Amino acid sequence: MTAYVAEPVYLNGQFKPLAEAGVSPLDRGFLYGDGVYEVIPVYSRRPFRIDEHLTRLQATLDGIRLANPLTVDAWKSVIFKLIADAPWEDQSVYLQVTRGADDKRDHAFPPASVAPTVFAFASPLVTPSAEQRTRGVSAITVADERWARCDLKVLSLLANVLARQAAVDQGCTEALLIRDGYLKEGAASNIFIVKDGVLLAPPKTRLMLPGITYDVILELAATHGQAVDVRELTEMELRHADEVWMTSSTKEILPITTLDGQPVGNGQPGPVAARMWQWYQDFKNHIMRQG
Ligand code: PMP
Repeated sequence: MTAYVAEPVYLNGQFKPLAEAGVSPLDRGFLYGDGVYEVIPVYSRRPFRIDEHLTRLQATLDGIRLANPLTVDAWKSVIFKLIADAPWEDQSVYLQVTRGADDKRDHAFPPASVAPTVFAFASPLVTPSAEQRTRGVSAITVADERWARCDLKVLSLLANVLARQAAVDQGCTEALLIRDGYLKEGAASNIFIVKDGVLLAPPKTRLMLPGITYDVILELAATHGQAVDVRELTEMELRHADEVWMTSSTKEILPITTLDGQPVGNGQPGPVAARMWQWYQDFKNHIMRQG
């Protein structure tokens, strides 16, 4: 076991040590990034929103025309075994399916006899520290240079990789992606803004990943009477927001307090983020810890 990967891992129907989990170098995930993935947070050994994650996995598989190699029940038994065997209470479970390894290199799909490659493992869940949450983090904006199906959670993440590295190079936590003057999302997160007490979010289109956390936040806003407007947000609105947050399964709700070197609002995490973070924790604790 490494500090990051629990053992056994799951590969193509078998649970085995990481060192024995070999994949062909002709695997299309390796050659083309031809595959899909999911990341499911686990609290107190209970996967959060597992059905929604498996539904998004199916939508992505449909989007790349790859048959789902496992039934929902089979996925769940893999996930529950990984969780049970891992040493941590809170985890993140990674799932990946590629279009498998043919005996040659050809962009077009391999014959039906080529089995997909299915890989999954559990890691410790690392959510932001209390210090990060109370201070907020820094972000930059970059041009969104991804393809036109950002709603699919595919392995081909090069544009996201370059965007996030640009952020890291500048000592920042996230890169916010701007396409044609509109805010889409972060390199690895969805983005919300707050203006005059209203929570604003970009709509789900083909140019944004439909985050599971994004849905939870909109549900919590509705439950608690928080005003919401889901619509396209301009780069100008982003720059003049009172609050900006990044959200994801592992970051939960993390305030961005510096954007391109300028303070967001008054430069401190805002009250709407603090309320939403508490609603999110209460929701998690209620659903996951008490059942
Ligand atoms: N957008 C992108 C590009 C992502 O990679 C992620 C997940 N890391 C998200 C949004 C957030 O999705 P979720 O809330 O399901 O983790």
